[in-house]
Amino acid sequence: MSVTLPFEATLFNSQFWDNLALLVGQILLILIIVWIVFVIAMVALIVLSIKRKHLYFPMLLRPVLAFTEGAVATGCQVLGVDATQLMEFLIKIDNDVNTTAFAAVPVENRAVFFPQCLRSSNCPARLTPDGLKCISCGRCGLGSVIPPLEEAGYKTFLIPGSTFIKRMVKKYRPQAMIGVGCILEVKEGLEMGKRISMITLGVVTKTDGCVETTMDWDELLEVASIGLPEPIVRREQVMDESLKRE
Ligand code: SF4
Repeated sequence: MSVTLPFEATLFNSQFWDNLALLVGQILLILIIVWIVFVIAMVALIVLSIKRKHLYFPMLLRPVLAFTEGAVATGCQVLGVDATQLMEFLIKIDNDVNTTAFAAVPVENRAVFFPQCLRSSNCPARLTPDGLKCISCGRCGLGSVIPPLEEAGYKTFLIPGSTFIKRMVKKYRPQAMIGVGCILEVKEGLEMGKRISMITLGVVTKTDGCVETTMDWDELLEVASIGLPEPIVRREQVMDESLKRE
């Protein structure tokens, strides 16, 4: 006696489905192998770049890292690269990739965002709708870089929080920005730059923390001078006599 199978059963028992399942399995296997090869190559390139202090293939690293970052971070950790070193490296790649586009933006369309932790704890700057207004009182290095940056054409913002960045970007519509901050802030700033299609460079402070952090001001001015005919140089600050007495 012959038994009639339901239509679905005959369909999925056919040679066609066997072949299709085999093909899908093989494609998946190839994709997994390619992904593993990419991860191993990325880990090797990153470890080599960090150890030799030289960026190898940054244009290739950035897009591939976008879909392998988690596995690459684990691989790097196994080979002795800690999370901070990896983050510094990712910032370097982003900066390297964005430098040419940044250089092409006229300085009038660029902005620099400073975190307020760079100020002296006795900073007399007043809060305005555009952030804190530095008066170059001489108590911290900000007063020696903000005036020359603004004279060169930059818009500068000393901000009490990252929400200010979005607000100022919306208000002044710069085409490129430099974000200053600790490693985590700069990484987040670079990611925000990508989200809002803004050419962004990051400069990391020398110390972390919420009060009186320090940074390499010359490094910042070097980055700010990219694409300019003349380098921007620091300005001597003269501390106001009345402030000296405070
Ligand atoms: S230079 Fe003076 S006013 Fe300007 S941010 Fe530093 S402490 Fe504040």
